[in-house]
Amino acid sequence: MKLICVLMCLCFTFSQAIADPTNPKKIKVVIDAGHGGKDGGAQLNSILEKQIVADVSSQLKALCSDKNIEIILLRTEDEFISLQDRVSRIKTLSPDLVISLHANYSQDRDRNGVEVFVANNDFTVKSSYFGAKILESFKKKDFQTSALQSANFYLLKNVDCPAVTIELGFLSNAEDMKYLNSEFGQKFLAKQIVSSLN
Ligand SMILES: [Zn+2]
Repeated sequence: MKLICVLMCLCFTFSQAIADPTNPKKIKVVIDAGHGGKDGGAQLNSILEKQIVADVSSQLKALCSDKNIEIILLRTEDEFISLQDRVSRIKTLSPDLVISLHANYSQDRDRNGVEVFVANNDFTVKSSYFGAKILESFKKKDFQTSALQSANFYLLKNVDCPAVTIELGFLSNAEDMKYLNSEFGQKFLAKQIVSSLN
């Protein structure tokens, strides 16, 4: 009886260790490129948010060489996926983390930089852990960043795992567009996110 108890305790500790972001083993990360298909997202002239975030998500997968991190792209085509479908697909994959990628637009052309959001739910602590790491990696590269923000976004609220939304920059800001809309810049953005997963 004692042995069973000890074994059970060990198993519990082990599974806890896997799920603990401060002690990462192999983790599964779903990248949710926002918008797609008929939903272009934010737009500046012919440049669409849906394309930018799809490009950054492909770069992310290409750049992640860590064998302990499995990157799964939720959207690889230019297709419309409803938020409900996104959530149910994510639930089927049961990842350790979801990163939802978006880009901003503001009437204030001076507004710029990276913003990260987490929901207020059972996963807030873990989501915030990753969110803060992502912000830190951008800050280190002299990106404009704001403090981690709380948001009621449908996807963040409804997936059964830690999740963050990254607004990669503002299409309405000329400086941000230099990296949002260039291959070099998109690779750079992806690299900062990948580096914060380690
Ligand atoms: Zn968006």
